Amino acid sequence: MRSERAERSAYQGLVEEARICAHCGSCKAGCPTYAQIGWESASPRARVVLADRLVREGGREGFSEEQVRRALECTLCGNCRVACPAGIDTRRFLLELREEIRGADKDPEPFRQLASGLAARGNVSAFENATRADWLDEVDDSGVVVGEPAEVGYFVGCVASFYPIVSDIPESFARLFGRMGRTVAILGAEELCCGFPLIVAGREAEAERLIRHNLKRVEALGVKTLVTGCPSCFHTWVHDYPKVAGGRLPFEVVTATQYLLRAVREGALDVASGEELDEVVTFHDPCDLGRNSGLYDEPRELLRSLPGVTLVEMAHHRENALCCGGGGDLQALEPELTKAVADRRIREAAETGASIVATACQQCVTVLREAARRNKVRVEVLDVIQLVLRVFE
Ligand code: SF4
Ligand code: SF4
Repeated sequence: MRSERAERSAYQGLVEEARICAHCGSCKAGCPTYAQIGWESASPRARVVLADRLVREGGREGFSEEQVRRALECTLCGNCRVACPAGIDTRRFLLELREEIRGADKDPEPFRQLASGLAARGNVSAFENATRADWLDEVDDSGVVVGEPAEVGYFVGCVASFYPIVSDIPESFARLFGRMGRTVAILGAEELCCGFPLIVAGREAEAERLIRHNLKRVEALGVKTLVTGCPSCFHTWVHDYPKVAGGRLPFEVVTATQYLLRAVREGALDVASGEELDEVVTFHDPCDLGRNSGLYDEPRELLRSLPGVTLVEMAHHRENALCCGGGGDLQALEPELTKAVADRRIREAAETGASIVATACQQCVTVLREAARRNKVRVEVLDVIQLVLRVFE
C-alpha cells in the first residue's frame, strides 16, 4: 500500500504538520494516557514536538527508548485531534509516528510478537484460525451460513471470534439474524484479522496481505452489504480496504448498530412489541465508532427505540467521550495503563446511576467488563446487539 517514496512524503507531511503546532496544550485535557501518567513527555503535545525535533536533529534513527515508549503510550483515541485548535490531524500524525518507529527498527517487543502471531495464525489470539467460528456451535436458531453466497455478510472480527468473555455478542447477533429470517454469510476459518492491529503497530505494508485475502473472500460471497461488529474493523474496511480495491469497494460496509437501526426502521425488528426492559442505560462511544468514524446518533437512536430504556449521558460523551483504554495496541504494550484508563471510564459510567453500560465494540466490552469487576462497580456492560436481543427473550 505504501511505496518508499510515499512513505517519505508521508513523513515530510507529518513534519510540516508538526510545525503548525502552536504548543498551546489544548490537546492534553482529554488525553486518557496523559491523565494517568501526568508527565509532559506523555502528552499529545510532546509527541508532536518529538517528531519536529527528530527532523531537526537528523531523523528517525534518533529515537531514544524513552521517546519510543512515550510515543506509544497512546490509544489512538483521537481526543487530541478533536481538541486541537490548529486543526492538526493528530491521530493520523500519531500513526505516521508509529510507522517511523517501526521504520527505525525500534518498535517494542509486544508489537513484534503481535505481528509474528498474526503472520503465523492470522488472528490476534493464541488460538488456531480453524476455530474462528466455534462460537456458532452455541446458537441453534441462527440465520448464519458459513462461506455460502448471501446478500449480507458479517465480518465477525478477532475479539468477538476468539475471546470467551465476549462470545455472547456474535451469538446474540446470529440469533437476531435468525429472528429476522435473514440469511447472513460469515467467512468462518477463511476470515483473517482485518489488519487494524498491524496498521496501529506501524506495519501498514504488512496489513496488505490480510486485506487482500479478506477482500477476495468477501467478494466471492457476492454480498451487497458487509456488516462489522467491531468499529475498528469497520474503520479499516472503510479507510484502508478501498486503497487495495482500486479506490472503491463493490459493496457497502455498515456497523452492526447501523444495520440494526435500519432493521428497526424498516419494521424487520419490531422492538416496540418486545418486552419492557425497565433499565437506565448509558452509552460509551467507542473511539473508532464515534470520534474516528463520526457515528454518534445511530447507537443512541437504536437504544431509545427499545421499550423501557432510559438513556443517560456520561459527563464525557460523543466527541468528548473518554477512551476505554483498549485501543492503539496499548493493552499489548502496557496492560496496567489500559486498566487505569478503563477504571476511570467505568467510574464515570457508574456516576450516572445507570444499571447498564451499553457500547458497540467487543474490545470496549472486554476492557470495561473487567474494569467493572475490578472496581466492584455494579453495572452490566453489554454491546447494543445484546440489548436489542434482550427485548425479545
Ligand atoms: S490519540 Fe488519545 S491517547 Fe493518543 S495522544 Fe491523542 S488523546 Fe492521547
Ligand atoms: S492542541 Fe494542537 S496546536 Fe495545541 S499543542 Fe496540541 S497539537 Fe499543538
